[in-house]
Amino acid sequence: MLSYRHSFHAGNHADVLKHLVLMLIIENLKQKDKGFYYLDTHAGVGRYRLFSNESEKTGEYKEGIAKLWEQKNMPTVVADYVKLIKKLNYGGKELRYYAGSPLIAAMLLRPQDRALLTELHPTDYPLLRNNFKQFDNILTKRDDGFQQLKATLPPKERRGLILIDPPYELKEDYELVIKAIEEGYKRFATGVYAIWYPVVLRQQTKRMINALKNTGIRKILQIELAVRPDSEQRGMTASGMIVINPPWVLEKQMNEILPYLHRTLVPEAIGGWSVKWIVSE
Ligand code: SAM
Repeated sequence: MLSYRHSFHAGNHADVLKHLVLMLIIENLKQKDKGFYYLDTHAGVGRYRLFSNESEKTGEYKEGIAKLWEQKNMPTVVADYVKLIKKLNYGGKELRYYAGSPLIAAMLLRPQDRALLTELHPTDYPLLRNNFKQFDNILTKRDDGFQQLKATLPPKERRGLILIDPPYELKEDYELVIKAIEEGYKRFATGVYAIWYPVVLRQQTKRMINALKNTGIRKILQIELAVRPDSEQRGMTASGMIVINPPWVLEKQMNEILPYLHRTLVPEAIGGWSVKWIVSE
């Protein structure tokens, strides 16, 4: 049973972090003319109305993208990300729409790049298909995202980014992520793999990271933004991105922008941020 709907969470602090990292990796891949493959295993619908009942019900975007909307003098990288979201909002007076990962990618991909977006939810998949039908280089599929690493790697381009962003509503998702990465890495060891994770219970996150360490894969960077201290209560206190084979500048870029992001999204100055190597070169 798939009950998670990303429309309740679109544009929250976790999306801000995830989509900034996604944008930076794609911009880095674009430094070479040769095209690349983008695989979004858990795509969602791609575009969200922030005035929908779902968004208004949780108001999560108010603690995320909305906090950056009116800011002046942002670090360039953050300004570039906000510019992308403003494009979606017809120039940017009012914040009404938010881009999911597939749309962030679609706005950045070039004609020589190609994407596959998979989504399983019976209501969300038709919305995703409809939102991307006009793109010649983007394919959507109603399928299990984890299976796509086995089925579609290595890409013919021999360059690629795989975003793995499951809802973790099922505990198995933590294990499925590791298995999928092992399958993918076996076939395509030079690919960039970006895995989103929530911190709900710190122990669970630690277990996933230990399992990743035990795969023997090297060059794994962990980027985290916490809006509250760790807690035993239910609820997400932080989120992060684990990046395998990150572009070499990513560590520096994140060290530069995370203090600003944390200050702006969490003026109460609780929680924190970190950038560290789970496994180095
Ligand atoms: N990546 C999206 C973004 O950043 O805009 C958000 C994705 S949301 C966190 C996770 C999505 O995965 C949900 O839309 C859910 O329906 C979908 N999903 C859950 N299990 C899946 C699976 N095994 N394969 C593909 N999609 C799945």
